[in-house]
Amino acid sequence: MRVLGLETSCDETGIALYDSERGLLAHRVYSQIALHAEYGGVVPELASRDHVRKALPLIHEVLNEAGLSVNELDGIAYTSGPGLVGALLVGACLGRSLAWALDIPAVGVHHMEGHLLAPMLEDDVPEFPFIALLVSGGHTQLVRVDGIGRYELLGESLDDAAGEAFDKAAKMMGLPYPGGPALSKLADSGDSTRFKFPRPMTDRPGLDFSFSGLKTQVRTTILACAVDGVLSDTDKADIAACFQAAVVDTLVIKCKRALQQTGVKRLIIAGGVGANKRLREQLRTATEAMGGAVYYPRPELCTDNGAMIAYAGTRRLLAGQQEDLAVAVVPRWPMTSLPAVDEQAGA
Ligand code: ATP
Ligand code: MG
Ligand code: FE
Repeated sequence: MRVLGLETSCDETGIALYDSERGLLAHRVYSQIALHAEYGGVVPELASRDHVRKALPLIHEVLNEAGLSVNELDGIAYTSGPGLVGALLVGACLGRSLAWALDIPAVGVHHMEGHLLAPMLEDDVPEFPFIALLVSGGHTQLVRVDGIGRYELLGESLDDAAGEAFDKAAKMMGLPYPGGPALSKLADSGDSTRFKFPRPMTDRPGLDFSFSGLKTQVRTTILACAVDGVLSDTDKADIAACFQAAVVDTLVIKCKRALQQTGVKRLIIAGGVGANKRLREQLRTATEAMGGAVYYPRPELCTDNGAMIAYAGTRRLLAGQQEDLAVAVVPRWPMTSLPAVDEQAGA
């Protein structure tokens, strides 16, 4: 089955073609970062309009790269939530109407299920059950996964998501938007032991997170180091390194706890912060020391993309799930409410 995937939930237009026999055929991501940079954050109306401009040209590009015509598609998957309502509507209207015109099934995909299943696009595919660490711009969750649509939320952030904390800390340090990747790069040259940053909520039982206190820590450290309001390059790099180490250590401690608590051996990481090099390395060391294994998508499939939506949609279409003719999006949508997919279907 050949499925076109459309991701338009926020500020990336992601388009991909997935073939259930041959794997990922082509994928393209257009990022709107430059468009939103001058506002320091995503402007919803501008995002919707840019998806309108970019989606069709990107569909042509992926079809060309795969050497397929639109008539050779067997299904269409689009992100139907959670996300910005206008941005979601662009992908949903386009996907639903294209499927109608081609007389093929369409399915709406949960964006976080897309992230969660992204490791399945790699050669080394994790078997169920596994624990998923979802770390993105809007979510920080630990989920027990017993199959597609069989999700149990074990813990989540009570305030800022990990990616959001990275972006806010970066902004305070004057790094360009969106700051997560820039902060992480700066941290490479810093001393992660210079300042004592807390590992929030690791001193008590449970699997929830809280990252907003680390922002305050960054602010007070900046104030303590700045001379006439200016931070030296060394100070900046050291603050970045200490902040990153605090977030990564906290995530690693909670992942180990989740594996111990459930007795599950396999861990997957997904979502934008999953691209973080230090997090990937430390989770590998930690899971291997426990006799387990960690799986993650290549960095470009950690952040938003159409491939993960095409993959999740394929699994659900193969299981017989599809939308009626209405165009529906769900801006707020708990992943645990998704229907389970029969283990045998779509394997
Ligand atoms: P959600 O998936 O929760 O709706 P989103 O789609 O905006 O949110 P993603 O695209 O999955 O989030 O991830 C973007 C986030 O990942 C941003 O907060 C960004 O700063 C962060 N990020 C990306 N690369 C890195 C990195 N190398 N280190 C740390 N953070 C990173
Ligand atoms: Mg984004
Ligand atoms: Fe995302």
